[in-house]
Amino acid sequence: MPDEVVRTRFAPSPTGLMHIGNARTALVAWLFARRAGGRFLLRIEDTDPERSSPFYEEAILRDLRWLGLDWDEGVGAGGEYGPYRQSQRLDLYARYARKLLESGWAYYCYCTAAELAEQKESALARGLPPRYDGRCRQLTEEKRRELEREGRRPVLRFRTPPGEEIVVEDLIKGRLVFASADLDDFVLLRPDGRPLYNFAAAVDDALMRITHVIRGEEHLSNTPRQILLCRALGLPVPRFAHLGVLLGPDRRKLSKRTGAASLADLREHGYLPEAVLNYLALLGWSPPGGEEVMRREELLQSFALEKLGSGPAVFDRQRLDWFNGQYLRALSREELVGRSLPFLQAAGLVGTPPSAEERERVERVMAVLQPELTVLAEVAAKAKPFLQVPSPQEWEAEAQQELAHPQTRLVLAEAREALQQAADDFSPEAIRSALHRLPPRLGLGKGRVFRPLRAALTGRLSGPELHLLVWALGREDAVARLERGLKELKREANSP
Ligand code: GLU
Repeated sequence: MPDEVVRTRFAPSPTGLMHIGNARTALVAWLFARRAGGRFLLRIEDTDPERSSPFYEEAILRDLRWLGLDWDEGVGAGGEYGPYRQSQRLDLYARYARKLLESGWAYYCYCTAAELAEQKESALARGLPPRYDGRCRQLTEEKRRELEREGRRPVLRFRTPPGEEIVVEDLIKGRLVFASADLDDFVLLRPDGRPLYNFAAAVDDALMRITHVIRGEEHLSNTPRQILLCRALGLPVPRFAHLGVLLGPDRRKLSKRTGAASLADLREHGYLPEAVLNYLALLGWSPPGGEEVMRREELLQSFALEKLGSGPAVFDRQRLDWFNGQYLRALSREELVGRSLPFLQAAGLVGTPPSAEERERVERVMAVLQPELTVLAEVAAKAKPFLQVPSPQEWEAEAQQELAHPQTRLVLAEAREALQQAADDFSPEAIRSALHRLPPRLGLGKGRVFRPLRAALTGRLSGPELHLLVWALGREDAVARLERGLKELKREANSP
């Protein structure tokens, strides 16, 4: 089919928040469609009413939008193959179930949960795989009626053909061969008529004209079932690409402890969507030029699904941090301020909206902090000493020690003088030279001068370079803080 339009889909079940694993699957399906000039669909697989919720559906839509993965058809976008929410397609599944029933590909099964458990146990005892033994395959009409009179409600099962070979040319994993003998007669419809995953997915992929099913390898065992269903229904079989699993840096299944996270969690921590997108695309794939920082457009230029490694990929939160740092540093000042403000506002450090003066100060503070940021969630803690005068109770112990030093009073008084007189533009350079004149003038070592200054200005000894710190505070505030330090020293000297 040379001029076939590529159609891929992301088909999440709204039963939880979107994690990096799902996000990676969505991204790969999206990239594949976009690169081929095809269409990307969003189908919501909500046939399990107990576990599905509109809350999670909303969250998935929001997360996809946040990542910048736009979809052409589906929930929230419409399209000619809808509805795209499986709970609204029950009549379609019923229709295809009837077809299977009429053609003999499906049959009703009345076994109770206890009977099924018993069958599995007895199979195990005989050294066979534990599964349904197919006893309802040949039920007569009469027997069925009898079972129904007992009040039993049947499930609909697929009559898996014996001795078939199912070959899949997986775009990532290569040639895969499955034997139908290894599959049981799986359930298609529950007693209440709701479809199970394999049936609904196979019908929908065909009806929505999906050309490429791209998903995680945990679905590999479903693939032969879906193919058999398509064949039985005379529906087209899509092509498949199964992504290797994501492991933590310890090469074990990704867990909370090893940095697994929901996208909501990453967003709240101040990861930038462009950094997340970039890193996710590089899991299991290395761009031909070896470059690492790649924006959406660059990914669209060079991403190749067939080049994805077929084995597991390692998700390393520290690598994501590195990417995030790169993207944070590449932001324009204005953008960085815009993205930081919500974090500063949430911490009560600036007003909503910020006053002009606050904004100006935030701009200077962010200029100073930009080189050292990894995630925006750090912004509040790092900016706090600039935006709020720390009370003496908040001073760190080492900072207090510095202030207790006998030379400190002289240092603060001289520095106040120097800052008041520093060149008019109060540029970082002007501040730097004003401050650097102090140690020789006072006959003190640099540390003896700069440490207590830092302590008096921010109540701590760590932070950006001193002249940048003073610049971010601004002349007036820096001088006021030194004065406060001096007052504090006087109060202490006077107290018994
Ligand atoms: N609803 C399935 C899931 O969330 C989709 C699997 C598929 O892509 O076929 O895992």
